[in-house]
Amino acid sequence: MNCPCCSGKAYEDCCRPYHTGEKNAPTAEALMRSRFSAFAIPNGDYLMETTFPSKRKYHNRKDLQEWGEINIWTKLEIVDKPNANKVEFKAFYTDEDGAQQIHHELSAFKTVQNRWFYVSGIFLE
Ligand SMILES: [Zn+2]
Repeated sequence: MNCPCCSGKAYEDCCRPYHTGEKNAPTAEALMRSRFSAFAIPNGDYLMETTFPSKRKYHNRKDLQEWGEINIWTKLEIVDKPNANKVEFKAFYTDEDGAQQIHHELSAFKTVQNRWFYVSGIFLE
């Protein structure tokens, strides 16, 4: 299966090793991609685990899992990487009413003990 993150690689050679914990995502972009794939799969546990610990209280596993399940995740586009800790992206998906949606976000990431975490995001038009 092609990786949902649109890298052009097989899932096994792309985001899967991050989802299984076999490897840690080496960059903010790799983590971002693996989180998009985790919505597509979906894998709510991975989405929680890769959220910065102090920010987890603003999210919950069940909502993340459901958000992944109810939408069809069609495409990820990396728009910009303004610095090593930030990724701007567009996530394309079809919502439960069959409408095409684009989630455009500038996300911030941080490392703790060589592991990347998602901290927060600003939604863009
Ligand atoms: Zn991938």
